[in-house]
Amino acid sequence: MREDIVLKPIGTVLAEVEEPVDMPLGGLSSVIEIYPEYAEALKGIEENSHIWILSWFHKAPRDILKSIPLKVNPDLPEYGVFALRAFARPNPIGLSLAELITVEGNRLYVRGLDAIGGTPVLDIKPYYENDIVFSPDTPYIRGKHREMRQKLMTRHALTHHREDCKDLHLAVRMAAIAEDNFGKVNSPEVSVFAVGSGCLADCLQGITRGRLAAPPRFDFVISEQECSSTWKKGDRTLIIKAKKDVGLENIMMLDDEVLFHIELK
Ligand SMILES: [Zn+2]
Repeated sequence: MREDIVLKPIGTVLAEVEEPVDMPLGGLSSVIEIYPEYAEALKGIEENSHIWILSWFHKAPRDILKSIPLKVNPDLPEYGVFALRAFARPNPIGLSLAELITVEGNRLYVRGLDAIGGTPVLDIKPYYENDIVFSPDTPYIRGKHREMRQKLMTRHALTHHREDCKDLHLAVRMAAIAEDNFGKVNSPEVSVFAVGSGCLADCLQGITRGRLAAPPRFDFVISEQECSSTWKKGDRTLIIKAKKDVGLENIMMLDDEVLFHIELK
């Protein structure tokens, strides 16, 4: 039996962005205001660093079954909407994993929420350890521009490493070069060997989702003298060695060749 379902919003999103086209990839820092009658349901929520937000994309078309992730790259193939996170879908339910920054009364301050101001919120659930799949199989939704690809890698690295440090940015730049040469870096065919700080190794593992075994795609040696990564795909090897000490603010500005010695064999 197909019956209609009635949902009651439990709160609303307060954000600067009002139109879906203006929503940046990766979401926004925003506030979720829970209606007073549901405020009790927030008890204990502050024990979580991350929460799932289910919302209702009230401005989304509901008659679209296939689309292209245009914001990411208009050259990508078409996918069914159930194979995408596109906001247009028969039931435009938004699913967003947001970082919970702080809770003040019935207001949740979050980072990374993909919902415009005024979006009705349907539900909130904590993100648990058992939600983590370290190395899932996913389609290669390649961002059109290098900047966009680096932004996504920065997000993956930050989620894994939880510290915005210099070697995180070096790891992102190395992985972006590897992607230019080998395509998807979290592919089972790509392996990486890191030499450098624990931060570099940690971030490269977070970006590539390379496990140490079963099958081995990642390995590292801690070194204070060297900062490098060696990438392999098939019979090709790419070696990326950091040249000299650069400031954190420079890393994303400098050209690949200024930052690294790059060798492709
Ligand atoms: Zn670090």
